[in-house]
Amino acid sequence: MTRHATSEYFLGKTKIGKGITMGLRIVMLGAPGAGKGTQAVRMAKEMGIPHISTGDIFRKNLREGTDLGKKVQGYLNSGALVPDELTCEIVADRLQEADCANGYILDGFPRSVPQAEMLTGFLAKRGEKIEVAVNIDVPDEEIVGRLSARRSDPETGAVYNLKFNPPPPEIADKLIQREDDKPETVKARLETYHETTEPIIAYYGELGVLKNVPGSNATPDEIYQRIMDVLPK
Ligand code: AMP
Repeated sequence: MTRHATSEYFLGKTKIGKGITMGLRIVMLGAPGAGKGTQAVRMAKEMGIPHISTGDIFRKNLREGTDLGKKVQGYLNSGALVPDELTCEIVADRLQEADCANGYILDGFPRSVPQAEMLTGFLAKRGEKIEVAVNIDVPDEEIVGRLSARRSDPETGAVYNLKFNPPPPEIADKLIQREDDKPETVKARLETYHETTEPIIAYYGELGVLKNVPGSNATPDEIYQRIMDVLPK
């Protein structure tokens, strides 16, 4: 097992520019397309901590044709969740890498109560915990419109939205639509979200770390500001 910097060191949090607190372990919650990824990328950059997206990890393995990619292909293409055990293994490995010692932003994980419980247990063994769960709240009607307008750059992985966050014209031609953002799959993903993922909002509420952020009728910059306002200072 990899050896890590001890958690004590990081419990003393350090303030960095603009009142942002460093050293936080953050979970991003919200339906697919709520804007978790966009916000998580920016937060990670400004806070200097890694952005860990299980969806990105799975897609990278799919593209590269690894064993993991082959195992998860069917789930991703149909919009179903990858089994908890496999997903948790991948996350546990990732969280033991050295760059996670200063905190991180989890995006797309946990996605079920068993995953959330596993994460709590894994962290507790290390004397750690999730300090904040940010739930970006967007109504279903808006989610469907957003996902169908989402496009990504196959080379950099950067995500755009034709309506809300248009790409620079020079790269517009090379952008692709994720297979699972096509309308048939979006419906399945939303159903899975409500049945399996939404209950973890209450789970983090009970742990006392939940922060709800309204995620509609606002620009990505405004939502970012709302998130900064609710992070522990
Ligand atoms: P995302 O990019 O977060 O929307 O994830 C894309 C797909 O990857 C999901 O529809 C699932 O098939 C799979 N996936 C991502 N994260 C998880 C997770 N925490 N648990 C199970 N499956 C996941």
